Amino acid sequence: MVTAKAWVLKKHFEGFPKTSDFDLKKIELPNLKDGGEQKLLLESVFLSVDPYMRYNFLSFLNFWIVESKNPAFTVGAFVVGARGWRTHFISDGKDLQLLPSSWPESLPKSLALGTVGMPGLTAYFGLLEVCKMKPGETVLVNAAAGAVGSVVGQLAKIGGCKVVGCAGSDDKVAYLKKLGFDEAFNYKTVKSLDEALRKASPDGYDCFFDNVGGEFASVAINQMKKYGRIAVCGAISQYNDSVPQKGPYVQIPMIFKELHMEGFLVSRWNNRREEGLQALLKWVVEGKVKYHEQVTEGFENMPMAFIGMLKGENLGKAVVKV
Ligand code: NDP
Repeated sequence: MVTAKAWVLKKHFEGFPKTSDFDLKKIELPNLKDGGEQKLLLESVFLSVDPYMRYNFLSFLNFWIVESKNPAFTVGAFVVGARGWRTHFISDGKDLQLLPSSWPESLPKSLALGTVGMPGLTAYFGLLEVCKMKPGETVLVNAAAGAVGSVVGQLAKIGGCKVVGCAGSDDKVAYLKKLGFDEAFNYKTVKSLDEALRKASPDGYDCFFDNVGGEFASVAINQMKKYGRIAVCGAISQYNDSVPQKGPYVQIPMIFKELHMEGFLVSRWNNRREEGLQALLKWVVEGKVKYHEQVTEGFENMPMAFIGMLKGENLGKAVVKV
């Protein structure tokens, strides 16, 4: 019999999450059965901490198979799935994804939670299908040094665009320059966001990949070019508000600049997941897309890693190594 450790919520978050909102429990798992549903025993290797968990306490996990009574999964294989914050699981094998067979041995398996996983796919489909970026255009991305934003900027460069990114520290800005962003600035220290955006691209922006929402988006929308496209990916500046923020509102610039603004969830392209993963994996292997991971050691530190990511302590993808 295996005892799993699991983080549970004492009550749903109010305002910014606190470590006291979480409780660590032990759960005894049953033995595997030959028939029925209980066919795989999984052990978490890496767990992902993502902004959406503020609303939905599931995590993408990268685990390996410890015991298998399902011929489709061999012991030792690595899989990814969305589950709770737990060290061990019993599974029927449904909704588990094996890593692509072309995954090189030298590449960290944790990338399946980041650049070659859900955040990478968000960047890929958001840019191609929502922003519909074209070579020669100018792309703006915020939270640019994070899991999604860092891939957005690099894919836009591969696509022949000029890229402007902003992030919340000078170290992050230096990292963006290293990744090949044409312009980058620290949105926390600029005197005027409006001026910083104008200086970075005096002609305005064709595409805006918005991870932040709120005031940033209200300022940026006024600097879109005519017929510009805005991919509303996230609104992290609003997730922890107890009282919803108020305008300025988007209608006037939307009308006069004839903008296209579209919210999306990456799951819309689940049927093209393989295409996206293969493209991202190829670029990573070729060195065209670089990655950085903020690894927190120890399952016990998972709430701290989650809260740290919401505060902006992560460079690249925040993951927890069990
Ligand atoms: P990140 O790795 O980018 O981590 C979050 C980052 O957000 C922090 O590092 C911090 O960076 C920034 N941030 C936090 N608070 C604020 C704030 N008030 N204003 C501006 N920036 C802030 O996370 P992800 O890459 O995983 O996610 C990025 C966004 O994409 C999120 O909004 C998320 O919800 C969204 N998302 C949407 C998906 C979809 O399907 N639509 C799928 C996946 C993610 P900094 O230091 O720069 O402030």
